[in-house]
Amino acid sequence: MLVQVFSLIILIASSILGIFVYLANRHSSINKSFSLICFSIALWIFTNLMVDLSRTEAQGLLWTRLTLFGVTIAPLFFIYFTTVFPKKTIKINKYQWLFLIILAIIIIFLIPTKFNVESFKFIHPEQISSTPGLQPISDVEIKFGSLYTFFMIYFLVCVAIGIRLLIKNYRTGSKKERLKIKYLLLGFLITIMIAITTNAILPILGNASLSGIGPSSTIFFLVFTIYAIVTRDLFNIRVVLVQLVVLVIGVILLMQILFNESLQMRILNGSIFILFCFFGWLLIRSVLREIKLREDLALANKELKKLDEAKTEFLSIASHQLRTPLTAIKGYLGMIDEGIYGKVSENVHKTIHKVDDSNERLIRLVNSLLDISRLEMGRMEFDLEKVNIEEIVESIVDELHVAAKKKGLNLVFEHPKEEIPEITVDPLKIRQVIINLVDNAIKYTYKGEIIVNCESVGDKVRISVSDTGMGIARKEVGEIFKIYRRGTGVRLFPEGSGVGLYVARKLVEAHHGKIWVESKGKGKGSIFFIELPTRNGLGRFLTKF
Ligand code: ADP
Repeated sequence: MLVQVFSLIILIASSILGIFVYLANRHSSINKSFSLICFSIALWIFTNLMVDLSRTEAQGLLWTRLTLFGVTIAPLFFIYFTTVFPKKTIKINKYQWLFLIILAIIIIFLIPTKFNVESFKFIHPEQISSTPGLQPISDVEIKFGSLYTFFMIYFLVCVAIGIRLLIKNYRTGSKKERLKIKYLLLGFLITIMIAITTNAILPILGNASLSGIGPSSTIFFLVFTIYAIVTRDLFNIRVVLVQLVVLVIGVILLMQILFNESLQMRILNGSIFILFCFFGWLLIRSVLREIKLREDLALANKELKKLDEAKTEFLSIASHQLRTPLTAIKGYLGMIDEGIYGKVSENVHKTIHKVDDSNERLIRLVNSLLDISRLEMGRMEFDLEKVNIEEIVESIVDELHVAAKKKGLNLVFEHPKEEIPEITVDPLKIRQVIINLVDNAIKYTYKGEIIVNCESVGDKVRISVSDTGMGIARKEVGEIFKIYRRGTGVRLFPEGSGVGLYVARKLVEAHHGKIWVESKGKGKGSIFFIELPTRNGLGRFLTKF
């Protein structure tokens, strides 16, 4: 009796759930296929209940045969569901579908025949007419036909396909999606194991006394799936669920009022019902409000993303447009300086150099901005080559030697004691990074020296640039590698922009390397480090920017 009441509750719950989920979003394949699963489960439970309610053996036979219908169509909907949940990624083979559908049609055709259930007999027929209501299932003798074995094979094939698809989804899914698939799988497996034992294995072995439990086991599948769907942020379904819970509790309370005989209890239940309606309404309203808020936020986020993309696009176009005239200016300045347009006095000469310096800075800034927009749009390209990093570092030190000398600084390259292995990098990009570090060291050092070092450390090559300059405050050590960030001590250097180290970090990270700085504090100099892996074969170079 208890089992049947429980089945009835699940029958009602899964039917209502099916309707609500469908109404929540009629266009979503997830909603549609889940509703269909709910309805076929409801159908299965219904036919099982009808078996228990049968008054004659003919009725019993008919309903027992019909129980097969719901469980034949449910697996097809389940397979479809696994192809769209949590997102539409997997396409199932056309022939596989056709095969399953043909099998299902064969089973459905054979449902009314004796291949399905051969006979249905009451063990104590004399008790039937005298006791109206449910028949204890242990008092009937059911003989199953050969279709049952055929059905079992079909069912297990479907289960195997469903599980395989879920596992495939699991492998390709994100962390959040994986968790949902786990819940779905867990609920599904518990239900299947109980149902197969009570409604297939045991009946085939001649014991149908537990077949009433099978339909109730679907509760695990329904509850776990609902949980998986709700945590997927399908807002509509969340409202539907709250409404559903409120509705079910409301109906139970209402029934208590109607079926209670004492007036006192009716008044008490009536007041509880009114209170419940009020709080239920508040609950639904607050959920709706939260959803609206979230939807607005999601919309605002989308707009922001668009704006960000537009900004990057603008940055890229603007930088391209700026670069051409700047390069032209550089060319003309060079020609004036060389006296192509007439002799230049010492004063003009000096001024041209100052203009050229500023122009050079602008070109570097524009190049950095271009790099940033390329990085943000994922359009940075790398030309990899096997290089001798020691040679690159030495040539940079030679190049920047003059600039350091001009400031009265000593720029030295410490040759490595051991031989450095060749590494695979984009030489131009790595050059750009090291130039940036040495450039900064010259810029932020008033007196003393800058030492550039290169060494092999385990399976890495480490390049360091140490200076005796203004140093970096401890709390700024991690900050300066972020975009547009400058240290607090740079007020005297207005020409910086705070993008160089950001680009450097991105480029080094793209090479699977590391960049960091160490400093004892303000005024105590700083050492910048770059570490690049030596076994950085082309195949390992996967990071795309
Ligand atoms: P910029 O030099 O144009 O400001 P960077 O991204 O190259 O931009 O550097 C970011 C900040 O890091 C600088 O503003 C400065 O505060 C700090 N910094 C970089 N190099 C050094 C250095 N060698 N010594 C002290 N501070 C430095």
